[in-house]
Amino acid sequence: MSLIELKNIARTYYIGGQVPVYALRGVDLTIESGEFVAITGPSGSGKSTLMAVLGLLDKADQGEYLLLGKKISDLNESHFARLRNRFFGFVFQTFNLLPKLNVTDNVMLPFIYAGEDTSEKRKKALENLMKIGLGDRLHHRPNELSGGQQQRAALGRALANDPLVILADEPTGNLDSQSSKEIMELLKQLNEQGNTIIMVTHEHDVAEWASRVLTLHDGKIIRDDKKQGQQRAKTREFTFDEKEKGEHGYWSGLKNYCYEAYLSIVNNKLRSFLSILGVMIGVAAVIAMLALGTGAKKSMEETLSSLGTNLLMVRVQRQEHGVSQGSQGATRFNFVDLEALKGLTSVDYVVPYVSGRAQVVFQSRNWNTSVTGTSVDYPNLRNVQIDTGRFFTRAEANSRAKVVIIGQTVARELFGEENPVGQWIRANRISFNVIGILPKQGAAGWRNLDDQIIMPIKTAMYRLIGEDYINYFEIKVGEVADMQPVTNSIVNEIMRLHRMPESERQRIDIINMVEIQAAASALISTLSYLLGAVAAVSLLVGGIGIMNIMLVMVMERTHEIGLRKALGAQRRDILIQFLIEAVLICLFGGTVGILFGSFVSWILSAFANWNIFISPGSVVLAFTFSVLVGLVFGLWPAWRASKLLPIVALRYE
Ligand code: ADP
Repeated sequence: MSLIELKNIARTYYIGGQVPVYALRGVDLTIESGEFVAITGPSGSGKSTLMAVLGLLDKADQGEYLLLGKKISDLNESHFARLRNRFFGFVFQTFNLLPKLNVTDNVMLPFIYAGEDTSEKRKKALENLMKIGLGDRLHHRPNELSGGQQQRAALGRALANDPLVILADEPTGNLDSQSSKEIMELLKQLNEQGNTIIMVTHEHDVAEWASRVLTLHDGKIIRDDKKQGQQRAKTREFTFDEKEKGEHGYWSGLKNYCYEAYLSIVNNKLRSFLSILGVMIGVAAVIAMLALGTGAKKSMEETLSSLGTNLLMVRVQRQEHGVSQGSQGATRFNFVDLEALKGLTSVDYVVPYVSGRAQVVFQSRNWNTSVTGTSVDYPNLRNVQIDTGRFFTRAEANSRAKVVIIGQTVARELFGEENPVGQWIRANRISFNVIGILPKQGAAGWRNLDDQIIMPIKTAMYRLIGEDYINYFEIKVGEVADMQPVTNSIVNEIMRLHRMPESERQRIDIINMVEIQAAASALISTLSYLLGAVAAVSLLVGGIGIMNIMLVMVMERTHEIGLRKALGAQRRDILIQFLIEAVLICLFGGTVGILFGSFVSWILSAFANWNIFISPGSVVLAFTFSVLVGLVFGLWPAWRASKLLPIVALRYE
């Protein structure tokens, strides 16, 4: 049984998809095992095409291919991949070693795609390398070797999986004459040891080494010279099924894929770094932006909800010509109003306010702050609990006692680390006893609630500010549902007490806390959306970055994929390996991004004093998106290249 039989093989290429080039036109050829065949002919005669068809790197359009008597021309690409792995070893003019792997890793490549990846086989592959004379170069990278040594390494790889045929395409094309001679001697030796060799060359003296020389012209074999007296080497005989048997083990290869992915990442440091950076920036930006937005929203909501939702604020707008008409008395609240409003149904608390500013002094320290005069119900209405000291009592309020409760900012400015409670401060030259400190409340809209001093309203009115009317009321309503009826009865009561005509109803201004909260929330939501949009853009930019890096590597990787397929990789092998690589990059970039984003958020909160909140949702969102982008654009080139015929991928430049 012949090793290889070609019957009427034809291969036509189409330039630009239209103009046909007949690279092979009806080739009939029989090759026996143990032969050393040289294929020669002028450039463009179809030598490489014939080699590619023989090695199943390319598919003939027409004709029959029998391998060990079995017709294989109709098998599919995945079957071809397996046959390439088991039957053929390739040596190329350009060596086609993977530049980032050392000699040993390059030589072991075929094992990744072989079903049986045993240590004996690997040991034998190493022994081969020793025989070939590369024993002292096992851990060198290809670029640290001479051309001759690289071609030896390639030969070592071709031999690794114990192939039936070694296919060499211009093996000496890139070598000087001394190295050429050495390589040819090696091939001759290998042939004598029982390897079948088919070699393409356009050099006459190289063809001389072979025992049979085929000459091609215009896609046809025009001469077939067998050297007289040359014996075929003795080879082990196989049947097709014997040589082909064995399962293709994907999962046994998993360890190798991970190792290869790892090598690929560490050996392409810049590329990996840029990809990781892309993912990282995307994730970090989203996390920081959303943390800011959510944080702002939360702190605003907290401030507002600490006030309670069922609050009303009652003011009277100044009359436009009030003073000249002498009716200002009617527009100002007094203590009669206070008592009357307290008497309304569904009203829990009514708290009066006056406010002004004062220069407060403790020893040599000065601070300008706002003064709030209010009633004993203030802590109840505002849900304020005084932890240090106490609030003023009803008796103190009635006796206009000179007592103050100070805000945190005032306490810090005047007393530093000292305890203010029990001390005397002066406000506008009047002495007040500090009886308590307000808890931290933060900003409420335009006012900083921590920068104020609070005292009984009458003390403020008559001793400090010098006004005899109440600025406004805050009213706590028992049930939110009662807000509207209470609002109406407040307006009616005030109009009655001040004998206001119906035309002035509009002047009584009642602000509902629910409305304020709704308005503030809407504002903050808009802000969050804005930040979200910025985050989305960052994510997009990060994504485009990843995409560009991945696309740039298409060329390099296409060639690599061509080689891997020549060595027997299935499409799945290629995809799994690239998937692992992309996942590793994305996971790493994503994790670093989460840490970095949290760090940036923390910096913002610590130094700029912004409220931040990292929601798990934003982490998941950012991570998922970046990883998806990385995966899609990392896998895309691999997916595209893995569809190509190996010969096309190998020629890709
Ligand atoms: P040789 O190896 O003898 O130089 P080839 O087998 O490389 O010849 O090519 C045979 C012919 O087929 C040449 O005319 C070449 O231009 C053409 N050819 C080879 N590959 C392709 C291809 N992928 N697309 C179009 N034409 C091709």
